[in-house]
Amino acid sequence: MIVMKFGGTSVESAHAIERVAGIVRARRDRQPVVVVSAMGKTTNKLLAITDAAIQGRREESMRLLGELRDFHLAEAALVGGLDEAINEHFQELSELVQGIGVLGELTPRSIDAVSAYGERLSSLIVAQAFNHFGLDAVHADSRKVIVTDNRHTQAAPQYAETYRRLEATVAPLAQERVVVMGGFIGSTEEGVTSTLGRGGSDFTASIVGAGINAEEIQIWTDVDGMLTADPTVFKGGHRVKTISFAEAAELAYFGAKVLHPATVIPAIERDIPVLILNSRRPEVPGTRISRETVASKNPVKSIACKKKITLVNIASSRMFMAHGFLRRIFEVFDRHETSVDMIATSEVSVSLTVDNPARLEAVCRELGEFAEVSTEPGQAIVCLVGENIRYTPGVAAGVFGALGDINVRMVSQGASLLNLGFVVAEADLAATVEALHNRFFAELDPAVFD
Ligand code: ADP
Ligand code: ASP
Ligand code: MG
Repeated sequence: MIVMKFGGTSVESAHAIERVAGIVRARRDRQPVVVVSAMGKTTNKLLAITDAAIQGRREESMRLLGELRDFHLAEAALVGGLDEAINEHFQELSELVQGIGVLGELTPRSIDAVSAYGERLSSLIVAQAFNHFGLDAVHADSRKVIVTDNRHTQAAPQYAETYRRLEATVAPLAQERVVVMGGFIGSTEEGVTSTLGRGGSDFTASIVGAGINAEEIQIWTDVDGMLTADPTVFKGGHRVKTISFAEAAELAYFGAKVLHPATVIPAIERDIPVLILNSRRPEVPGTRISRETVASKNPVKSIACKKKITLVNIASSRMFMAHGFLRRIFEVFDRHETSVDMIATSEVSVSLTVDNPARLEAVCRELGEFAEVSTEPGQAIVCLVGENIRYTPGVAAGVFGALGDINVRMVSQGASLLNLGFVVAEADLAATVEALHNRFFAELDPAVFD
């Protein structure tokens, strides 16, 4: 058995879904379980609809909802039609959105209830389309198999129960027919719909892969694989043919959106390779992520980056670091459930980065009780990742040499020793990535890069 996950752009239209059906058909004998994202930008649209409702723009929210319904009806009509089910879903959704508007209150639980419709609909449509194109497919409701805790919008899977259900229901089904499931969604033990967080369909694929003991987890997307740099920031990147779980996890964590950061967790546990593949160019071999690392002449495998970072500088009000200073700082962040990505300390100060500033004001107010605090928004993290960075002298010198007069705000080498990260102003990001790419990928080891 294999798991094949198709992202939003891969299922954005009837035409795209037809291409997916062809890709799945060619792998039919490997007993695929197919996991799909919401069609195109549906999740963003659902959240915009909820936003409009909560802000009292009822007409706008109903208009957007109507457009989204018509889009799903029209695309589904091209692959066999599914009017009744789609209309029913939108009827429920419309009641839900109106309820949210009337109450004027949006809880994480109701956000999940709304955003889950994207994958609920896409999985029904894709299953229908597969049958329309001659594949014997069956839909499985992910909310009946993926069990999570109740941390809505960011729920964590309860592995034991989820694996038990996958093994009991999905694995036997997949031996007969192509199973189609929605990614991203699950439900709590009480049966309340939950989601795994934005980009979470990759994570679903990996959970399903581990649960059915798949031989491979394939992530089909809109790029040729993991590239040596984020293509939205730098265009000249190359495909990385092979990379370790640890490297992929680090890249994902530091912004390589092509993979959800948690994806590797179930895969590592059961030692299942993860492939990243392009649904528009299925002949390209993609990137293989697995336990073993291939020796590479290039110390850096890829450059990840993360925009919209806030740098927080915290200086001890006393002249030196009294003991307990770091503890107090982290207690504040912990209390406000604000996670810190990168940190550097000196004798009297601590710099750290935060990517979610929602509660930063409150954090700073509390920090201000025992330290001097300043924040700088508009920063970016750039992170070089490669298992060989730790064995290669001169990587840091190479970075600073390449950057010339670009101002580096903070530097940090992770404890894992396979990354070297730093912070620059967002305005310098493109120039930074280009300079580093030129420095570290001027020559490519053909065993690792294409
Ligand atoms: P999907 O909808 O298939 O899950 P995503 O948009 O979540 O697709 O992820 C794919 C995108 O990830 C690519 O289009 C690309 O812009 C972005 N990306 C960021 N960093 C990288 C990288 N190092 N390699 C490849 N893609 C990357
Ligand atoms: N549809 C969800 C999102 O847009 C999950 C995913 O695509 O992975 O975040
Ligand atoms: Mg994604």
